[in-house]
Amino acid sequence: MKTHPLYLNGEWVVTETTHAVVNPAKAEPFARMSLIDRSRVAQALNDAHAAFLSWRQITGKARGEFLQKIAAELDRRRDGISRLITMENGKPLAQSLTEIAMAVDHLRWFAEEARRGYGRVIPNQVEGKRHLVIKTPIGVVGAISPWNFPLVLGVRKAASALAAGCTVVLKPARQTPLSSVAFAECVDAVKLPPGVFQIVAGSASEIGQEFLQNPLCRKITFTGSTSVGQILIRGAAECVKPLSLELGGQAPLLVFEDADLEKAVDGAMIAKFRNTGQSCIAANRIYVQRPIYQRFLDLFVAKTKALKIGDGLLVGVQIGPLIDDEAAAKAAQHIEDAVAHGARLLCGGRRLKERKGFFFEPAVVADVPDRGLCMQEETFAPVAPVCAFDTEAEVIQRANASNFGLSAYAFTRDLGRTFRLMESLEAGMIGINDGVPTTSQCPFGGVKQSGWGRELGLEGMDAFLETKHISIGIA
Ligand code: NAP
Repeated sequence: MKTHPLYLNGEWVVTETTHAVVNPAKAEPFARMSLIDRSRVAQALNDAHAAFLSWRQITGKARGEFLQKIAAELDRRRDGISRLITMENGKPLAQSLTEIAMAVDHLRWFAEEARRGYGRVIPNQVEGKRHLVIKTPIGVVGAISPWNFPLVLGVRKAASALAAGCTVVLKPARQTPLSSVAFAECVDAVKLPPGVFQIVAGSASEIGQEFLQNPLCRKITFTGSTSVGQILIRGAAECVKPLSLELGGQAPLLVFEDADLEKAVDGAMIAKFRNTGQSCIAANRIYVQRPIYQRFLDLFVAKTKALKIGDGLLVGVQIGPLIDDEAAAKAAQHIEDAVAHGARLLCGGRRLKERKGFFFEPAVVADVPDRGLCMQEETFAPVAPVCAFDTEAEVIQRANASNFGLSAYAFTRDLGRTFRLMESLEAGMIGINDGVPTTSQCPFGGVKQSGWGRELGLEGMDAFLETKHISIGIA
């Protein structure tokens, strides 16, 4: 079994201490990942700081050219890397390829943005003074990414920070480190200067503490659960460390009686079942206006039953395994709880115990009351709770009754309603007649307990730039 290396200061480092990487479709290890201790992470931050002093000096255009070359390498290696994503994460191969295409596009977007770290000139209020605002890179960035989109979420952070002139130490998730190693191979192939981008792996809490407490690390960018986000917030309070946090979601999806029903069902399918329901922007709870409730359910259940489950490496598979046993147990618990509250299980909902992997049949549960667990917590599985609503005001109130606010979806053809929803839904991203709103050029992030700050868009690079006011006396 191959032991994959870390990428430290331009060198590939294989260590004796390793952990197993499991294929969730087979529930067995297929590779090992090298691990380092906290002192070696501190060394990576030192090296990243040394690299920062030169990386920040080169032009944005030159940094962008490196990012373009990395994008080309990633694109060229997409067949091999997509298999790796599927093997460590479980998602169907077609979705792994889409993830790579998105990562390539992020790199290209930030390659262009690298030239645009604009400041501004402010008219003076007092004679004999001039005022400038300039943007400078924040410094070394500690990045922490989750397992559900193992490549693109790390790339999103790296591309924006590198474009800004920062250097990056990335810690991928324990379950899925290999996509990040494959990305580091692309970085290495284009001869990015040593220390500009590095991969570390080891104890998550120790790496997190080193990022927090080491003064050379100037910012932490984190994607993952709200509970780990809270640990980082508490740690950051001690040393006033800036944080960007992309945390959990619990998206409502609203279908109004004036919607194009076929499109609404297709939108709900993708918003719910993409990545086997393990997406932070997954539709967690579906509300359908009463006059079309039964017709929506009939179409939605028929399409859900038709989804092909299996090992993501096999052609035509649409639903892969969940990441682990715990994820399957949580899905089952959310369904049991809904049924105990009077809901009806219309299809699926069974752990496929006859298979070795962590497979769970996509489920639709109807008439789920708002107090059901799956209406209040992030399910992170292919479980679709559906319930009816009567009025727009009522459904907006129910949609907003959550501590989370990452994304929300609505299907309607009423223009006035579209504007009312845009303005009143409490979410950082709102898909109107659109089940997949994410795109490189638009800000990605949440409100309430879904996080702080934005990735992607103009905001993505700005998150890694300091704003400085320069006042110049010229008299
Ligand atoms: P997680 O348990 O929070 O893990 C995310 C990352 O944090 C992993 O790299 C993990 O390392 C690391 N980590 C764990 N404990 C840590 C600590 N004490 N200090 C520092 N880092 C620590 O989340 P997950 O289960 O992997 O991901 C699912 C969650 O991520 C869901 O809630 C989902 O909504 C959210 N998510 C949000 C977005 C978004 O953009 N808002 C996108 C995707 C996912 P180890 O793997 O080594 O433990």
